Amino acid sequence: MVNPIQCKISIAEGEEREAEFMPATILDGTRIAQEIRGEVATEVRAMAAAGVRPGLAVVLVGHNPASEIYVRGKVKACEEIGIHSEKLTPPESSSTEELLEMIDGLNRREDVDGILVQLPLPGQVDAKKVLLAVDPAKDVDGFHPMNVGFLSTQRPGLVPCTPAGVMEILRRSNIPVAGREAVVVGRSDIVGKPAAMLLLNANATVTVCHSKTHDLAGVCRRADILVAAIGRAGMITRDFVKPGATVIDVGMNAVTDAAEFQRFFAGNAKREEAFRKKGSTLIGDVHPEVAEVAGALTPVPGGVGPLTIAMLMFNTVKAARMRRGSWVAEMSRA
Ligand code: NAP
Repeated sequence: MVNPIQCKISIAEGEEREAEFMPATILDGTRIAQEIRGEVATEVRAMAAAGVRPGLAVVLVGHNPASEIYVRGKVKACEEIGIHSEKLTPPESSSTEELLEMIDGLNRREDVDGILVQLPLPGQVDAKKVLLAVDPAKDVDGFHPMNVGFLSTQRPGLVPCTPAGVMEILRRSNIPVAGREAVVVGRSDIVGKPAAMLLLNANATVTVCHSKTHDLAGVCRRADILVAAIGRAGMITRDFVKPGATVIDVGMNAVTDAAEFQRFFAGNAKREEAFRKKGSTLIGDVHPEVAEVAGALTPVPGGVGPLTIAMLMFNTVKAARMRRGSWVAEMSRA
């Protein structure tokens, strides 16, 4: 039996009232990601039976420690699912031209269905030029302007993995989107903008907020679905959330400072033990206190994060399928 929580909520600037809520349902991203990976693995097996093995090439330039961890996770996920993967590791000193040549080689290879250029790229490289060089049919990150255009005109294409994962969480948790107010905080090309476009395509009424938005908390309080993709630890507090709203926390921020840790997780024994052992913990853009107000909430870790890799696997198989005949057909039908 879950007990209701007594707490104060903001109803307007400076105005509060006491209210009673049930704690938020936690949306289990790890479980949903496993489900998707299982479905993709089944499709990979069916393709293998027809003599096709989808292939992903990951380009990791230099030695960014965080990028190395992300790429390791992606390559491991491919192996588990039966997708062929390879890692190309040009040196930190690589020029734009050298990377363009590498991308050109991958574009031409028949056994490579997906090309992922791990960001960020070193400062001397023109990242936009490199991303533009990836064949849109192999652009499993969905960053190429052609895929951005397909998304905004509702044509089939490759959709950026993290926003696609956000939509899968909503869909597989039976959270209705059509006709509802959605607020996305963040307007990056990688998360905020495509998430807003996907929500709009799913018939939500969408507002996109950013660092210049006035009365951010007030705008966020309108949301039935609030997506936080900001990169600021615990910025979305209770005051930003309409009671009962669904809150999707895309943020991934490392907390290493003990005082900051206490501010977010005081009294959370499990987190305290992990923080003592590792000296750091991961927090989203949403403050843990939001669980007392929201109707449903993605945790960090274990929320949107696992979906990003699952959707990369999904996109690689989709690219393999579309490249073998149906890409052109699907484009001309749309
Ligand atoms: P980004 O490119 O830095 O964009 C951040 C956005 O937040 C910008 O649009 C910025 O507004 C806005 N913003 C910053 N401070 C704000 C404030 N005080 N009030 C309102 N808006 C503010 O970041 P991103 O790449 O979209 O990533 C966002 C977060 O998601 C990060 O924590 C990142 O680590 C995480 N992420 C997670 C995954 C995953 O797999 N879970 C994948 C990708 C990213 P302006 O445009 O006005 O500057």
